Amino acid sequence: ILFKKTTDLHKYLDVQLLNGSTIGFVPTMGALHSGHISLIKASKKENKITVCSIFVNPAQFNDPNDFEKYPVTTEKDIYLLEAAGCQVLFLPLVKEIYPEGMNPKMYYDLGYLEKVLEGKFRPGHFRGVCMVLHRLLEIVKPSRLYLGQKDYQQYMVVRKLIELIRMPEVQIVICPTLREADGLAMSSRNMRLTGDERKKAAGIYKCLDFIKQNLNSINLIQLKINALQLLGQAGFKVDYIEIADANNLEPVTRWDGKQKLIALVAAFLNEVRLIDNMLLS
Ligand code: AMP
Repeated sequence: ILFKKTTDLHKYLDVQLLNGSTIGFVPTMGALHSGHISLIKASKKENKITVCSIFVNPAQFNDPNDFEKYPVTTEKDIYLLEAAGCQVLFLPLVKEIYPEGMNPKMYYDLGYLEKVLEGKFRPGHFRGVCMVLHRLLEIVKPSRLYLGQKDYQQYMVVRKLIELIRMPEVQIVICPTLREADGLAMSSRNMRLTGDERKKAAGIYKCLDFIKQNLNSINLIQLKINALQLLGQAGFKVDYIEIADANNLEPVTRWDGKQKLIALVAAFLNEVRLIDNMLLS
């Protein structure tokens, strides 16, 4: 069932809740691919009702060009959701999500998370993510929220958001990153790559894999320098490449062999900005 209005979705979900159904929620910005569908499938396994939202959230784009060029493939998305057995699609207009405009209704204190990596390179981005998810969580009131590891820092931000807005009953389920055959993480933005860029794009995965393979043999500072060189040679303009503690994203320069590590990358191929990450230990 496709809902465009919050009030209609509310009515429907209230009945489901009264019937004792659990609700799994998969928020997206559309241009769906198998990565998104894997979240739908994970939700379907654990919940009676799965709600997917498609909303290209203007509040989270720090680059207006990126917003304008964000792919929209609604017909195909609906087809994919039907084929996956997703029961509900919420497809709101901007005024439905932000009836009072796009001013944040509260200050989301994300601390360190907002100052590093995506937070640093995309100012205001996570504030926008918090605004939209705050609103969507209040509308859908899911039992479980499905997020992809592909956006690892976003997952950490959402974990913090749930604490800040006091909705601890929402359980976050993080799902593995789905990749193309050459390792490129599936992403809606991949549609914007030219043939030549697409061939180069797997360089990010190769670089992450290089870090993982050499974790024990090269010190982390040198490893980062080598990885940066690799990406440069592969034709990327790098925003960041970091090896960090997977629990708090603080950079790690010396590994004690026990800390859970993650490598994170954001880099441009010409106009298109790609991000990816890999757990290292
Ligand atoms: P987006 O439409 O890019 O906002 O993504 C919606 C959700 O799908 C987020 O939780 C993403 O982390 C997740 N996602 C995006 N790409 C992938 C992927 N390749 N594998 C798994 N989940 C993904």
